Amino acid sequence: VNQLSVSDEKAPKEGDAAPDDKEISPEERSLMKKMIRDHLANVKGDVNVQQKDPNSPLYSVKSFEELRLNEKLLQGVYGMGFNKPSKIQETALPMLLADPPNNMIAQSQSGTGKTAAFVLAMLSRVDKTKPYPQALCLSPTFELANQTGSVLEKMGKFLIEDGLKVAYALRGNRLEKGSKCDAQIIIGTPGSLLDWIMRHRFFDPKKINIFVLDEADVMISQQGHQDQSIRIKKALNPSAQLLLFSATYEASVMNFAQNIVNDAVIIRLRREEESLDNIKQFYVKCDTAESKYEALANLYGSLTIGQTMVFCHTKKAVNWLSEKLSKDGHAVALLTGELEIEQRLAVLNRFRDGKEKVLITTNVAARGIDVEQVTIVINYDIPINHMQQPDFETYLHRIGRTGRFGKKGLAINFVDGTRSRRQVEEISKHFGKEIKLLQVDDLDELE
Ligand code: ADP
Repeated sequence: VNQLSVSDEKAPKEGDAAPDDKEISPEERSLMKKMIRDHLANVKGDVNVQQKDPNSPLYSVKSFEELRLNEKLLQGVYGMGFNKPSKIQETALPMLLADPPNNMIAQSQSGTGKTAAFVLAMLSRVDKTKPYPQALCLSPTFELANQTGSVLEKMGKFLIEDGLKVAYALRGNRLEKGSKCDAQIIIGTPGSLLDWIMRHRFFDPKKINIFVLDEADVMISQQGHQDQSIRIKKALNPSAQLLLFSATYEASVMNFAQNIVNDAVIIRLRREEESLDNIKQFYVKCDTAESKYEALANLYGSLTIGQTMVFCHTKKAVNWLSEKLSKDGHAVALLTGELEIEQRLAVLNRFRDGKEKVLITTNVAARGIDVEQVTIVINYDIPINHMQQPDFETYLHRIGRTGRFGKKGLAINFVDGTRSRRQVEEISKHFGKEIKLLQVDDLDELE
């Protein structure tokens, strides 16, 4: 457990302190998701395609060979351990690589293979014998640009050995005054890239034949990025292929998308609905805030059979609880919004790798981060909104991450008074699912 000083010995109560209010920004969240993910997300559901011409036949590929890629590129793809295209790649890749090229807007949750798809498209669209930029990729932040660059350099390894060049238009990274960029591919953030084009004229935007705008949803959350992206797009040749990727599909994102990428094929992979069907839900009755601790400590042995996430309302409670559990000899990991991104990544990596079995966290810190193998979720504090009413959406989101892929999951709600008891009743009623009383000595029921 990280060193955090907790002076008072008493268990914090809800309302004692503000909720974990250090919001994690969309770009940090996105970076974390990328960095902790080392495999494809397991998604059900079908790819939905809206074509420009609904009568034209849809091709999908079951293998990378069918795409007739350059030998060195194919080698790079296999070198990354990819055996076959992911679900979204099956449909997107033939359209991305088609001649004449298609513009595309693609939406699917993180981890479905979008980055790999557009990196492949960029690599296959440049001619390394021509010493000027032909492919542009826009990322919302310095870190995300570097992340994409590392995927590109891995996949394009054999092309790079053969003379292909990649440049980064990022803050602090400038070419010599008056010189020209000789890399075929540029990855950058909107501000720096705009400088490279307009102010320094490091390259001719009219020669770009593929333009990728990644993480459009994160992009629009950043001040000024939207306008800069539009200005860059306007500097390009109208015949350039335009691609836009997003993890979400709100109206604001789609407006921006259609503003930048006109006349596009739209492909979407809908997120699997979170459901409570595979999950057994219980509540544990505790008399006081202190006895919630006793109950958790008693459960600890059972929690470590699988992997458990324990949710508290405030970071103070998270800190208090983890410190007390570790003092009592129980290994736990802790995640709150106040940790630096590197610390958060380290915690999540260790948890994902099973080095820690129990993760104590707040909503804010855990939102949007899927750890797929979680089997038990404990609501140490029932999720509530600022009106002190049960927050059904958060409940579903916390719990819905267990019991995925047909595995049975378990949710345990801690109740320490009439208010939280009533909240659990409302949750049960809202979802039309029973939440049974669990006697802590009666743990056999859990297995
Ligand atoms: P997204 O951009 O949608 O978040 P990524 O392209 O980053 O998804 O892919 C998520 C993870 O899956 C990465 O670790 C990536 O290396 C891996 N991956 C992508 N495509 C494939 C594939 N066809 N086969 C196996 N793994 C893949």
